[in-house]
Amino acid sequence: MSSKRDYQLGLIGWKLGHSLSPAMHNAALEALALTGDYRLYSIDPADSGSLVDLLDKVRRGEIDGLNVTIPHKQNVMPLLDALTPTAEQIGAVNTIIRDKDKLLGDNTDAAGFLYDLENFFAAENIELLTKEKEALILGAGGAARAVVYALAQAGWNVAIAARRVVQAAELVESLGIGNAHVIDLTEQEIAALSPHLIVNATPVGMFPQGDASPWPEGLVFPAGAAIYDLVYNPPITQLVAEAHAVNIPAITGLGMLVEQGAAAFQTWIGQESPRTVMRVACKTALAAQTYPKG
Ligand code: NAP
Repeated sequence: MSSKRDYQLGLIGWKLGHSLSPAMHNAALEALALTGDYRLYSIDPADSGSLVDLLDKVRRGEIDGLNVTIPHKQNVMPLLDALTPTAEQIGAVNTIIRDKDKLLGDNTDAAGFLYDLENFFAAENIELLTKEKEALILGAGGAARAVVYALAQAGWNVAIAARRVVQAAELVESLGIGNAHVIDLTEQEIAALSPHLIVNATPVGMFPQGDASPWPEGLVFPAGAAIYDLVYNPPITQLVAEAHAVNIPAITGLGMLVEQGAAAFQTWIGQESPRTVMRVACKTALAAQTYPKG
């Protein structure tokens, strides 16, 4: 790859004011001595014309690659020429890649989550010796789809706790996986499980509601469980703080954000992503925008 190339990258979403992605990707471009820019494209979900126009810019090579976040992860799918098998099975696109004048939709959330989960387990010396690895996912929205897909692919049995069980059952059915089942998001049903891993895939605990926890109040964490909270703002969520207080290993989703971004960046640029630089840029940008509690 020529270092003189000017890379135009960006993120399609809506109300993107707090996104860490520009800081992360612009730091990556700079670290590789590449010129270019990663911009935010905030598009009203009702404005399909602007979405089509933006994708045409990618087709013409005016933009080299895009990330996609809510509410457009599904909206963009019919506008693309092809999907990777992962994006097709998850049913959502978070990365758009240009191949000549064709647009390919990929999903790097699942791989990003799994990669960071493995790092987390390695850092905490967690080694699951059992063949029956049990995970409990709280929530059944877009992020849960990628997480359930990733865990099922990696051989986990997955229980999905949702306040809308019909939506969760649809998620399992559309993913076409056998090793997942749905429970009500109630203390009684959660208490009946003994998962090795609990993943928060709800927005509960996210800034500015940083004092909230998705875990039922007073319910003891299962012995031997580890907790992965997809929420990363605030940098230490209430759920992670509660877990740490009783010596349960727990981590926020900042690493997943970095890893999904690193995987996308690598496909656009064709070089190894500078992960450490990207992580530091995210942490710095997050610290700059996090306000004290209360
Ligand atoms: P989403 O599509 O809106 O889904 C949210 C899910 O949480 C839904 O099942 C929703 O249930 C449930 N939920 C919302 N509020 C709840 C509450 N008070 N109690 C119980 N359940 C509740 O959102 P998403 O895109 O999946 O994102 C979820 C979280 O993950 C967000 O905080 C997001 O920032 C984070 N995330 C992080 C990463 C990362 O890289 N770390 C990536 C993606 C997402 P209903 O359908 O009943 O409302």
